[in-house]
Amino acid sequence: MLLDMSTVEHVKRTLDSKFKFRCHDDISCFNRCCSRTSIILTPYDILRIKDRLGISSGDFLEKYTYTYIDEESSHPYAVLKMMDDNEGKCPFVTPEGCSIYEDRPSNCRYYPVGQGLMIIGSEEGTVNEEFYFFIRDPNCLGYQEGREWTIESWRINQRADLYDEMTREWMEIQLRRNPSEQSRLDSKKQAMLYMASYDLDKFKRFIFESKFLDLLEIDKVEVEKIKTDEIALMKFGFKYLKYILMLEETLIVKEEYKNHHINS
Ligand code: SF4
Ligand code: SF4
Repeated sequence: MLLDMSTVEHVKRTLDSKFKFRCHDDISCFNRCCSRTSIILTPYDILRIKDRLGISSGDFLEKYTYTYIDEESSHPYAVLKMMDDNEGKCPFVTPEGCSIYEDRPSNCRYYPVGQGLMIIGSEEGTVNEEFYFFIRDPNCLGYQEGREWTIESWRINQRADLYDEMTREWMEIQLRRNPSEQSRLDSKKQAMLYMASYDLDKFKRFIFESKFLDLLEIDKVEVEKIKTDEIALMKFGFKYLKYILMLEETLIVKEEYKNHHINS
């Protein structure tokens, strides 16, 4: 989420950290957390929701999201757009609760826990540090209810562990920088980053309807897989991101095309 920092507890927590929480449909704050919030979406969030709604990734992005550009990294992110009404409700909330509950985004699954990732560099290399924090929104009464969790048991209970598995690589890509690369992305790279992260249907057309496959040495089995398997396509997108952000040589350009740009 693009968090309201006044509700964030500034203490780093681990998977063993304990908290009490219970959310249910008889609680007087029911649905209050599904208004006036800013939820940054991950590639897997979008894949799940657009499939549930039976629409293309492009239609989903246009109808339900806006783009937020992170000031420091200049990376673009898709953010779930709240309704333009007095209450600023999430488009998926109903009086009975979340209408896409089984496919709700990772951030909604984690709530009231927030998740962070840091890359720590040293002379020996870099390590990723994953951390958590509690969100103490005074409007959320779930903390007054009795059930005790650890962050680990909560994320498993909410199936957020699957979402982490799907997008951890993408989250790491967002943090990594190539020191020799210019610090800000130009609009063309931002568009490629956005497409490969979020607009999987467009990315697929880009792969199969441009010269992309002619220019690159890509294993035929992988090519066949990304034709039909959206998760494989999403993960291939991560490879492409590493390549265009010059983080790793994840793609090999055929000898005869060495002077071409594959993002053109
Ligand atoms: S997606 Fe569902 S859980 Fe998340 S804010 Fe919207 S209604 Fe609430
Ligand atoms: S307890 Fe918190 S998470 Fe549950 S409905 Fe109320 S505000 Fe939302």
